[in-house]
Amino acid sequence: MGAQVTVVGGGIVGVCSARFLQNEGFSVTLVESGSIGAGTSFGNAGNVSPGAVVPYLIPGILREAPKWLFDPEGPLRIRPGYFLKALPWFLAAAKESKVENALRTSRAMRELHRGTFDAYGELTRGTPAESLIDRCGQLYVSERENYAKGSQLAQFMREAAGIRTIAISGAEIREAEPTLAPIYRSGLLLPDNGRVKDPHELTVLLSGEFEKHGGTVVKGKASTFTTAGKHVTAIVVDGRPLPLQRVVIAAGIGSRELASALGIEVPLEAERGYHINVHDSNVMPRVTVTNRDLSFACAPMSVGLRVAGTAEFAGVGSEPDWSRTELLQRQALKMFPGLRLEKVTRWAGDRPSFPDGLPALGPAPGYDNAWFAFGNGHFGITGGPVMGKYVAQIVAGRTPDIDVAPYSPARFG
Ligand SMILES: Cc1cc2nc3c(=O)[nH]c(=O)nc-3n(C[C@H](O)[C@H](O)[C@H](O)COP(=O)(O)OP(=O)(O)OC[C@H]3O[C@@H](n4cnc5c(N)ncnc54)[C@H](O)[C@@H]3O)c2cc1C
Repeated sequence: MGAQVTVVGGGIVGVCSARFLQNEGFSVTLVESGSIGAGTSFGNAGNVSPGAVVPYLIPGILREAPKWLFDPEGPLRIRPGYFLKALPWFLAAAKESKVENALRTSRAMRELHRGTFDAYGELTRGTPAESLIDRCGQLYVSERENYAKGSQLAQFMREAAGIRTIAISGAEIREAEPTLAPIYRSGLLLPDNGRVKDPHELTVLLSGEFEKHGGTVVKGKASTFTTAGKHVTAIVVDGRPLPLQRVVIAAGIGSRELASALGIEVPLEAERGYHINVHDSNVMPRVTVTNRDLSFACAPMSVGLRVAGTAEFAGVGSEPDWSRTELLQRQALKMFPGLRLEKVTRWAGDRPSFPDGLPALGPAPGYDNAWFAFGNGHFGITGGPVMGKYVAQIVAGRTPDIDVAPYSPARFG
């Protein structure tokens, strides 16, 4: 039996971390307060994007933000009453959206995301989860001429990172995806990106592999830790201390409170997104189609057509604003006029987002046996397996395959 590690959080990041830690020879316990994969990893758009090198907050975006805030059909919302609480995050984000910072973030995104398919391959090869990963490409569309490829800076970032892209015309979009309304005038194909056919099922299957390899899942809410100087000695789960040798916090948006319990404040904010899932959909695009104008994705999934997006700042634990899903319904119908909205379910989930658009990956400042692996924001399905791989290498005391300095949890001071 190898040395012991406790991982907190049974989302995609925690489960991948737990599996890679097993591969490093550790005996691993996974603590999850709800059901495995039922957090934000449940209802996302499933994009797996090694080509995700354009930060959400690139220069120019913040100039568009006020327009979106006052547009009822726009993708961004700050709940009245939460504005002042969210302000420090936005101010920090504004600072990060300077060109030189955005370029640095882009390079760090590339380094982190480039190995995502290989890392998924390592975890899924020969298992039932293997067929859920599909490197089928992704398509971005816009109603505006020349717009799908994004700003000049976005194009530069993709070029600098060596991301393959193919610009296509309105006619080519219709040929590629005949069920789309004939309103799109520019498209961009990213042939090396892909998708997960059902991110919830993927997380559950990987957790099954974890248990098959001797891992233990403990159900319960972690609230705090017991410590001795720089050393975490136990985690308190549902009021009971569970002794541990090492701990990895990978609890998505719940990580902020857990970090705080260690005395570490991190500027992690909940960027809530929504989806509608059209079960037994009569319309199914071949690849995930992202509407560049309104920032939402239409994903063909094994559980139906999923339309996912929007970002709402309302605070962790606040009631969802389900009118956001009505917006997604309207937008889906405009995009796919033949779509029948008969069996529709809706969902909301909190993206764990840092203002600089990068996750926290590395040692918890001030501790010698605690590590952070959270904060993947819009890119956690892409980031999950690589976060898991690199945090496991770090915990094992090995030099990780990539330079992890840009994701250092110590960068928040
Ligand atoms: C609408 C939408 C669309 C998205 N689309 C994409 C996409 O296409 N591609 C992509 O790469 N990313 C996408 N994302 C982002 C992605 O879903 C997230 O980044 C990712 O799921 C985060 O995974 P996680 O494991 O960090 O968190 P979670 O999946 O939230 O897992 C954290 C787990 O920790 C548990 N937990 C929390 N606190 C505690 C505690 N105190 N004790 C015990 N357990 C605890 C929770 O119950 C939860 O199960 C999208 C997000 C949204 C909202």
